Amino acid sequence: AGSGKFFVGGNWKCNGTKDSISKLVSDLNSATLESDVDVVVAPPFVYIDQVNNSLSGRIEIAAQNSWTGKGGAFTGEISVEQLKDIGCKWVILGHSERRHVIGEDDQFIGKKAAYALSEGLGVIACIGELLEEREAGKTFDVCFKQMKAYAGKFRHTVSPSPPVDAVPSWDKIVIAYEPVWAIGTGKVATPEQAQEVHVALRDWLSKNVSAEVASKTRIIYGGSVNGGNCAELAKQEDIDGFLVGGASLKGPEFATIINSVT
Ligand code: PEP
Repeated sequence: AGSGKFFVGGNWKCNGTKDSISKLVSDLNSATLESDVDVVVAPPFVYIDQVNNSLSGRIEIAAQNSWTGKGGAFTGEISVEQLKDIGCKWVILGHSERRHVIGEDDQFIGKKAAYALSEGLGVIACIGELLEEREAGKTFDVCFKQMKAYAGKFRHTVSPSPPVDAVPSWDKIVIAYEPVWAIGTGKVATPEQAQEVHVALRDWLSKNVSAEVASKTRIIYGGSVNGGNCAELAKQEDIDGFLVGGASLKGPEFATIINSVT
């Protein structure tokens, strides 16, 4: 872990029922959590209100997606304003399932991020390469291109087009490096593989945004993190936390991951 506050997000994806979520919330409420860690959970939209009304204020709530602008005639979409209205502080954007299963592209994701940030929502900005991209030696190229889509859009959130490092909202961005081949597969990146990309991302931020943003921005790792592998990953200097899918559905295991920073 680096110098920034450790950040652990739980992405519940499209899982759960009223009953199973009530059990998960009660397990989280009774868990002992390290105080020096930011903890966020992302329930499915339809359960956000239930979670917000029952979860201890120690944990903040994220949405798993948001619309690119103000609400209106956009059937099936959920606006940033609505998310804030029901108590969300964060939104996960650019998740690999949205990119590769649903087909969202960099430009669309960048637009969503820019809008969410402009409205004061924190953004967990996901990036990551496919297995074939890693095998072709393109991991850094792919990740930098995805970073650029976020950074370019952030630049346009203030006018008239100041340099990227003038954007105030970098404070509300957490970068989640999630190699696609590691998500939901049980194939976790080794601590060295993750650390190597996190260092490259920090270097990219330093060259393309500013040294200050590079040192302050939290870069978290996601992809088959569990109670057994989190401690080794958390020891890496540039891993500032985790985004957790499957293991975040089990309260005690999620607590172990949150507490892995010690
Ligand atoms: C995720 O969906 O962000 C994720 C990392 O999933 P899992 O932990 O299940 O691999």
